[in-house]
Amino acid sequence: MSTRNLHTPIEYLKGVGPSRADLLRKELGIRTLADLVNFFPNRYIDRTRFFKINQLQQNSAEVQVIGRITHIKTVKQKRGSRLVATFTDETGTMELVWFRGVKWIKDALKVNVPYVAFGKVSLFGHTFNMPHPELELVAEYKKSLQSAMQPVYPSTENLTNKGVTNRAVVKMMQSLFIETKGTFQETLSSELLDKLQLVSKSKALFHIHFPENQQALTKAQQRLKFEELFFIQLQLIRKKLIHKARIKGFVFETIGNGFNSFYTNHLPFELTNAQKRVVKEIRKDMMTGAQMNRLLQGDVGSGKTIVGLLAMLIALDNGFQASLMAPTEILAKQHYNAICELLEGLDIQIGLLTGSTKVKERKVLHEGLEDGSLHILIGTHALIEDKVQFKNLGLAIIDEQHRFGVAQRAKLWMKNTLPPHILVMTATPIPRTLAMSVYGDLDISVIDELPPGRKEIKTAHRYDSNRLSVFKFMKEEIAKGRQVYVVYPLIQESQKLDFKDLMDGYESIVREFPTPKYQVSIVHGKMKPADKEFELNRFLKQETQIMVATTVIEVGVNIPNASVMIIESAERFGLSQLHQLRGRVGRGAEQSFCILMTSFKLTHDAKKRLDTMVSTNDGFEIAEVDLKLRGPGDLMGTQQSGVLNLRIADIVKDASILKRAREEAILLLKSDPNLADERNKHIQLTYQEISKNRAIWANIS
Ligand code: ADP
Ligand code: MG
Repeated sequence: MSTRNLHTPIEYLKGVGPSRADLLRKELGIRTLADLVNFFPNRYIDRTRFFKINQLQQNSAEVQVIGRITHIKTVKQKRGSRLVATFTDETGTMELVWFRGVKWIKDALKVNVPYVAFGKVSLFGHTFNMPHPELELVAEYKKSLQSAMQPVYPSTENLTNKGVTNRAVVKMMQSLFIETKGTFQETLSSELLDKLQLVSKSKALFHIHFPENQQALTKAQQRLKFEELFFIQLQLIRKKLIHKARIKGFVFETIGNGFNSFYTNHLPFELTNAQKRVVKEIRKDMMTGAQMNRLLQGDVGSGKTIVGLLAMLIALDNGFQASLMAPTEILAKQHYNAICELLEGLDIQIGLLTGSTKVKERKVLHEGLEDGSLHILIGTHALIEDKVQFKNLGLAIIDEQHRFGVAQRAKLWMKNTLPPHILVMTATPIPRTLAMSVYGDLDISVIDELPPGRKEIKTAHRYDSNRLSVFKFMKEEIAKGRQVYVVYPLIQESQKLDFKDLMDGYESIVREFPTPKYQVSIVHGKMKPADKEFELNRFLKQETQIMVATTVIEVGVNIPNASVMIIESAERFGLSQLHQLRGRVGRGAEQSFCILMTSFKLTHDAKKRLDTMVSTNDGFEIAEVDLKLRGPGDLMGTQQSGVLNLRIADIVKDASILKRAREEAILLLKSDPNLADERNKHIQLTYQEISKNRAIWANIS
């Protein structure tokens, strides 16, 4: 069957018709035969296995039971009635129950004839009951060939209610395979199929719907997963190559005086190997003649600022200006101060532009930017919102703690004739698989090494019942002159209860740590800003030793003398939040500690989060576990879900297939950038189809 025929609307398929077609479109987004054949089962059940009634268990998946109906009754209930059939085999008795279509079903049921009942069971009192079973006479059942692996398709309540059961979908799929003779257009080249030992498209589609055995199914899945990931990678990498070819950038050939003299005379420490590597990557990128579009990832404290500064110095050496944009005014000021200090004694002019920069100062800044006498501009959003005109902006750095939108990034370089090079710095570790799929069109540099001398924060998990020993530990650390954070969760939904926990906790700490020997601060969202600031200052000045707070992240201060972080109800925090909270300590020279307090009741996921925190300080490792626990959609928000809305592949579980798909996509585009080679015809056609109609990735959910 040609591709064109697969575009046939679903209603022309045998057994579908206009009203079912409408339902399939609304509920599952299935419009054409192509949509249907690409609608994959989410699992398979063994229909050769039968259960005896005394083998049934609560919460098991669907089961098959052979038995006879011995008795049928209609039970009146608040609205309408339900039909209950007593179903028995030689080991016991259960009930089949219907809430809908009672009259019609009652007439169709036969008493004392063997049936196969198929469905989910649940226990009511001592009796198992199977609501809305699929029933088939054993005689009929034996006639139809049952495969060991029967597909189970995703469904919705509306579909089931309107009679489009799993069995109906299977029948449709059978008709489709009969009408198309089961032949489908190949989408990969025979070279790739051979090299990776993948089964053909037709074979894969047949076995994904009607697998003969586990091995055939695995082969089908591998092929379809590879294909799905391969075409996404092809799109991402192609986009990157086109960008590189089309978007010309300034060529920074010179490594001049500014860079060299700073590097040899002013660098306050030796760069880590990771920093050196990244500086080289950036330098190379800015020499190619294409615009740099690079993401720099590194955990908090890994030293991204100095790398950014070195990149700016290269821009300056080549006669260009540079800018650095931060998400908040505080951070912009912090960057400004740090960079002014680092560049002291060098003939470089630096400006700061934020929302609160006075009109008069703004005018001076504008003039300096336009005539080129101001070399580096640091600021907030004001930088792109303001009517700033650079003489020649060569490099724009974005410190992306809180993610600027892509639109804003574009705006930043649209001002110029040639776009400046772009470097985005982010402190959120993005797992490799996710980076490959979501940011596959960007170049990525990673600082995966902390500057030397940092002590690992020691992390422990303690149960609430060990509180006394935790108090004792706090006292020992305070006696050494350290300070302690105690953080409580404050989740929107349970705010009242959380607030009570916080106050109870505060009171017990005050009791345990009495004045005048100890002073305890408390900061939470219900306090007036002035009161918060007052308490914070007391803690900063070391007038108090303990800071009880909801989320210290809100507070956002850097207090190097605080070296103990106690997180209450730690099981209620997400992994990235725990990692961020822990990052509040470990900023000074002293050994720091993080103690995760929980009750005994822990879910499997919570236990995994705690174990991860205890076993590692590595933000990337933590992000990987987070990805596994929460799934990619949750981690990235809905923004990028287009790329992550996968039909069959899973970027976590299929990481190795993803890696392979990316490698093959890169190889292919290297040898045949426009997919013009006759041997890649199938790939080219599919690629075109996908690019034309991105909706092909839209999921069914
Ligand atoms: P982040 O990546 O979180 O932005 P920063 O750039 O603020 O990290 O660096 C954190 C601290 O580490 C700063 O005080 C900085 O001076 C210091 N630092 C950066 N690189 C090194 C290094 N190679 N050796 C020692 N200290 C370093
Ligand atoms: Mg930083």
